[in-house]
Order: sequence, then structure tokens, then C-alpha cells
Amino acid sequence: MLLTNYKEVEERVRKAASRVNRDPSEVTLIAVSKTKPNEMIQTLYDNGVREFGENYVQELHTKMEELPEDINWHMIGHLQRNKVKYVVGKVSMIHSVDSIRLAKAISDEAVKKNVIVEILLEVNVGLEENKFGFKVEEVEDAVCEIATFPNIVIKGLMTSAPYVMNSEENRPIFKKLKELLVDINGKNIHNVSMSVLSMGMTNDFEIAIEEGATHVRVGTAIFGERNYNR
Ligand SMILES: *Cc1c(COP(=O)(O)O)cnc(C)c1O
Repeated sequence: MLLTNYKEVEERVRKAASRVNRDPSEVTLIAVSKTKPNEMIQTLYDNGVREFGENYVQELHTKMEELPEDINWHMIGHLQRNKVKYVVGKVSMIHSVDSIRLAKAISDEAVKKNVIVEILLEVNVGLEENKFGFKVEEVEDAVCEIATFPNIVIKGLMTSAPYVMNSEENRPIFKKLKELLVDINGKNIHNVSMSVLSMGMTNDFEIAIEEGATHVRVGTAIFGERNYNR
């Protein structure tokens, strides 16, 4: 099941990319393994999968200790400043940087550990309440400021679109994030050249790819439904 699911998602990624004449290798498929057991991750790993996404620091920390070292972990969930030390130097990218203070804390920890951290700024494009992220109009100033922090590289932008019945409804959100990235790159901000667009989940990753996603974060379509009260 698991492997079949993964291969199916890969195939859908490939087809979506082809529809808009993109090279499928431009799109990184991140298997979002939150709440799922190590055995499932190991099975995918044994079949060559290396990119995994997690939301919760404690869970990520435990899995990292128990699973192979060459997994590329992506931190995609809300990160508190007091937990930054558990992810800096350990994950390959932090997708969910949603405040300047958090970026500063990451930078401080990166300096302390003498590592460079790649981050994305999370943008709440849909202006959903109870969702983290910068507002669209805040992003440029945030980029300017964060770009001056040492040992941190802003690789791009991330968003989560709302759950909708028809994924086409989310297309404008993905378009907007891409536009924002292109706009900000065009301002020639010192040290800033963003290339990553992390957008698209189980329900809408094909639309996101058509609109330029370079990283899609897919959980349910690979691992099945999550059960939070195990
Ligand atoms: C859980 C989660 C995903 C994966 O969601 P699915 O709908 O299961 O594919 C992607 N991104 C973020 C930020 C998440 O929290």
C-alpha cells in the first residue's frame, strides 16, 4: 500500500509538471510523516526516499535519533523560539519561519553552532484566522531584515492553502505566492535570491506544481489518514 501510494503520488507529480512543461526533477516530493511510525518511514527509506517532513519538534527529535542519518528532514510545523535548538543543524530546511523574532533565534543558534540554516518564510496568503505566517504585505520588509542576520539563508516562501472541496479554488493562492517571490527577487535585496516555493499538500499539490511549486508536502496521499489520538 505505502509504496504503491508513494509511486502514485510521484507519478501525479510527474504528470502535473509535464502539463506545464516543467522538468519533474524541479519538484521535490516531501513525504509528510507526522504521527506515522518509524517502520513506515523506514520502508520508504529502503526504497530510496530521503525527503521527509515533520511538524512537531519532539516527534521529529525522536525519529531523527532512531532513523538513518542521511534522511533530509524538513521542519514544516509551527516552531517555538525555545525549541529552535532542537532543529538548528539537524534539519535540511525550516519551512515555517513565521516571525522575525523566530528568524533571529534561529540565526543566533546557527552562529552558536557554526552552521548555516536554510529557511523559508511562511506566508498566510489566504489570510486565514488561526493560521501562522506573514501577511503578503509584510513579507518584503521581513526578507530585508532577516537577510541581514548571520548564518541564515532565505531560500524562498512557503504556504498552506485552506482545505477546499475543489482544489482549483486554491490556484489563486499559489499564483500569489509565486508572484510575491518573483517580485521580491526583482528588488535585488542584498544577499537575497529566492528559488524555493513550498506549496501543495494532498488535496492540491498538482495545482501547486502547475503554479510553480518546487517542494510539495504530501502526507495523507502517501501514508493514509492520520489518527491524532493514538
Ligand atoms: C500535515 C501537513 C502537510 C501534509 O498534509 P496532507 O494533507 O496530509 O498531505 C503539509 N504541510 C503542512 C504544513 C502540514 O502541517
